[in-house]
Amino acid sequence: MHTKKPKGSSPENWIDFRELREKLDFGAVLAVYGVELHATDRKGQARVACPLPGHAERRERKTFSANLSKGIFRCFGCGESGNAIDFAVLMAGLEKGNGSHVRQAALELRERFIKGVSVRKSEPECPRVVNAPLGFELKTLDPSHAWFAKNSLTRETVGHFGLGYCSRGALKGKIAIPIHDDSKTLIGYAGLPTDEEIARTESSQYVYPEDRKVQEAVQGFDRSRVLYHGHEIARSVNRLYVSTQCHEAWWLWQCGFRNVVALMNEAYSPDQAEQVLLLTTPDSEIRFLHAGEPLPPEGMKEMIVAVARNRRCRWLNFRVGEAPITGLP
Ligand SMILES: [Zn+2]
Repeated sequence: MHTKKPKGSSPENWIDFRELREKLDFGAVLAVYGVELHATDRKGQARVACPLPGHAERRERKTFSANLSKGIFRCFGCGESGNAIDFAVLMAGLEKGNGSHVRQAALELRERFIKGVSVRKSEPECPRVVNAPLGFELKTLDPSHAWFAKNSLTRETVGHFGLGYCSRGALKGKIAIPIHDDSKTLIGYAGLPTDEEIARTESSQYVYPEDRKVQEAVQGFDRSRVLYHGHEIARSVNRLYVSTQCHEAWWLWQCGFRNVVALMNEAYSPDQAEQVLLLTTPDSEIRFLHAGEPLPPEGMKEMIVAVARNRRCRWLNFRVGEAPITGLP
């Protein structure tokens, strides 16, 4: 067996036998040949009837001993022994001592067990975790940036929502908006450009956290599973206001609607409806407030349909920058 790459052979057919032996799961190889090990001891050792075609004596006795952790076998009946590749060679009726036989079996094993595994591994590349704790805070945000005063947002509002102008990094030139999950853990920052007044702000202006690689996982952000400002609402309120954008929530909060939450760009998932139910009492009323169009936007409509089975719901149109809202609360 050679482990060096022979000159002129294609990379596809070149086999690193040592690497293959290390990567092969002997238990899986045995299983493919119908050898089921019902119990292995603590050292990964198990004994079964010998499955090898060259085994001449009767097969009642458990003469075939396999060590899964070492990837080797030995039969006390026919005397055969070896590793997973040897096992495949013998099961195919080939000869262990014949280089091309071993090579053929090894290629088949690699095709069947290693390539398949690596394709499955590379598809999602690495596990994706959604809305994981961020693990750091932006420390240099400016809460007294002129943009806030220009938009009639008070210090109190800016401080309550932890907002600040960001002058560096991915959110450079934007208002950074900390987003928390319902256990008050910071999971990311959204950003809002400062070139428009909030009264004219559209959903498309927001930027949301992008996927980032942390150790062996990809951390992603799914805004449809978070209720913005939900972590600040005491459980069991009897009136909850739901808006569709972060800046709408700031404005409503500043107007005195303290129990306000928001979807983010109207992204909706049933998780959010569940959170709304958790935050409110059964006899509460949920008021859906949306700026702009007379009818609620799509995500909000879906939430109303989901929540209306369990709670009284009203929806109202309002304007950011104008207060108070007639008829409320
Ligand atoms: Zn045997």
